[in-house]
Amino acid sequence: MNINLSRIMAVNNNQVDLKYQIDVESINYYGDKIIISEPASLQGKLYYMDEKTFLDCAISAEVKVNCGRCLNSFHKNLATKLSVELIEEQDGLNIEDEDKDDIILYQDDNIDLAKIVREQIIMSIPMKLLCSENCKGLCVQCGINKNEEQCQCKLDNDEDEVKVDFRLSKLKELFPKD
Ligand SMILES: [Zn+2]
Ligand SMILES: [Zn+2]
Repeated sequence: MNINLSRIMAVNNNQVDLKYQIDVESINYYGDKIIISEPASLQGKLYYMDEKTFLDCAISAEVKVNCGRCLNSFHKNLATKLSVELIEEQDGLNIEDEDKDDIILYQDDNIDLAKIVREQIIMSIPMKLLCSENCKGLCVQCGINKNEEQCQCKLDNDEDEVKVDFRLSKLKELFPKD
């Protein structure tokens, strides 16, 4: 989804309200495909000030992700705000590293809103994705989802004991009774 910056600014007197639903569908998140369940929304404004162009907007999206503990998929709402200067990319342009967070580069007078939305969604996905704070996860022994079922595995509180038993049984195999 591209908008032509100089045209939209000329038509709107250098201040443009933006309100878009952008169909992002899916994003590549460090090799994982993350489904965007609804069109993402972008709302804000573009404006020109002191010979610079700025984008101020709020972006929200609903993503379908997998819980890091129980592996079930669930929907999560992400919302983020963006306030950046837009700079046209050109040869010889050199931007200091510390300024990079406040800048979005564009080419050929075109602002790609879908690309911006995609990048913002990626940045706002939390490191630890849990379907709920209380997610009990999977049983490490039998693999059932402990949120949905209970198993008979005696592992939770006496994991060490189980390991010891395992070692003892190995020892018995090494020294068979005669
Ligand atoms: Zn979970
Ligand atoms: Zn189990």
